[in-house]
Amino acid sequence: MNQKTRKTSHSAAIMDASRRVFPGGVNSPVRSFASVGGTPVVFEKGQGKTLTDVDGNSYIDFCASWGPLILGYGNPAVVRAVKAQAEKAMTFGAPSAGELVLAEKVMEWIPGLQMLRFVSSGTEAAMSAIRVARAATGRSKILKFIGCYHGHADCLLVDAGSGLATLGNPSSAGVTAGAVADTLTVHYNDRSAVENAFAQHGADIALVAVEPLAANMGLVLPQDDFLPFLRRITQKNGSLLLFDEVMTGFRIARGGAAERYGVQPDLWAFGKIIGGGLPAAAYGGKREVMECVAPLGKAYQAGTLSGNPVAMAAGLATLEEMDRIHALAHIEETGCLLDELVERELAAPVDAGLVTYVREASFFCFFFGQPKAPSDFSEVSRSDFAKFAKVYHAWLDAGIYMGPSGYEVGFLNVLHERADLERLVGVVKATLA
Ligand SMILES: *Cc1c(COP(=O)(O)O)cnc(C)c1O
Repeated sequence: MNQKTRKTSHSAAIMDASRRVFPGGVNSPVRSFASVGGTPVVFEKGQGKTLTDVDGNSYIDFCASWGPLILGYGNPAVVRAVKAQAEKAMTFGAPSAGELVLAEKVMEWIPGLQMLRFVSSGTEAAMSAIRVARAATGRSKILKFIGCYHGHADCLLVDAGSGLATLGNPSSAGVTAGAVADTLTVHYNDRSAVENAFAQHGADIALVAVEPLAANMGLVLPQDDFLPFLRRITQKNGSLLLFDEVMTGFRIARGGAAERYGVQPDLWAFGKIIGGGLPAAAYGGKREVMECVAPLGKAYQAGTLSGNPVAMAAGLATLEEMDRIHALAHIEETGCLLDELVERELAAPVDAGLVTYVREASFFCFFFGQPKAPSDFSEVSRSDFAKFAKVYHAWLDAGIYMGPSGYEVGFLNVLHERADLERLVGVVKATLA
């Protein structure tokens, strides 16, 4: 499909009006296209793997609303479950059976997860996990990795990834020095920096928070011993280990990072897929840690819409449908197909160091101007983001939608086919030629 004549007037008009109402015209900063330039695409509809915008252009979706839509848009089982629950009740603010069913399903998928609490966003999940870790250990400091994103809680807005990096803003205004005084940051995969942090502050470190596969600074893989090393050093120092699996959960393996990398954390944060496209997230972990949460324990955490029945229904239907169609195995096959296409079609630019391709499970990423896969944020930030912006607009013109920033990953879903991947790779090849 050639959409060189892609119309944008309706998107532009809506964005103009939106800029008077929302900061930057958007309700989440990356959506503003600040890092790729041009006018954001305003969408009207999604069906399967296809998005349609308000100007009538269509796109193959590789964004998946940033991860939740691993089954594509409008999966019939998910839509049916949502409609059925909506007719019964939107929310009770009281216990409902759906929470229990989804929790038990999540625990069936994630070995070692013994107790959890539903919340409404990944931000809340990570923020609450930190509070619980501090309550459980009686310690104040946390260690996070530069370029890893754990949502926008104050104490986490230190060298955070994607959205902030995109805006060239290593931290955020409005966050006090006090709020981040207990947050230590080191580079991802940098074991000696972690050792140094523990040598200096070990007795005060409540928690090490990590994206077990870093997917908010492009896609950065954990080096072989990195996660086992984090497990060992936290255990040795009496600190807890949090896997922020808001992005990777239910996606890199049925059992998440614990299964994929053979390392079990003390705490998990989940989001995105767990709500099947509606606002739901969760944090959880070992029973003795989670028993610190109110009303059992003294760590307070609450939510009007927590465990929202409609979101629970969407999440449950998504996980059940993933099992039914063996979604992860199927997507891995699609991923292998993408690997083959990249190897065949992009051999020359890859050899010339013009682009590096990284894939893990349903995540993929192209780093432009990189001769090899980056291992931390400082390497990622040396990418050619002007080139990304050029490829990005070529993707849009060719009918492909990805997250609008070079710090974001692409997402495969269960509906992608060879022709979609050919179009994706073809645009990269043509733009670099
Ligand atoms: C998206 C994301 C979050 C934040 O989740 P929200 O629902 O956007 O608040 C936290 N951690 C990771 C790893 C994420 O990818």
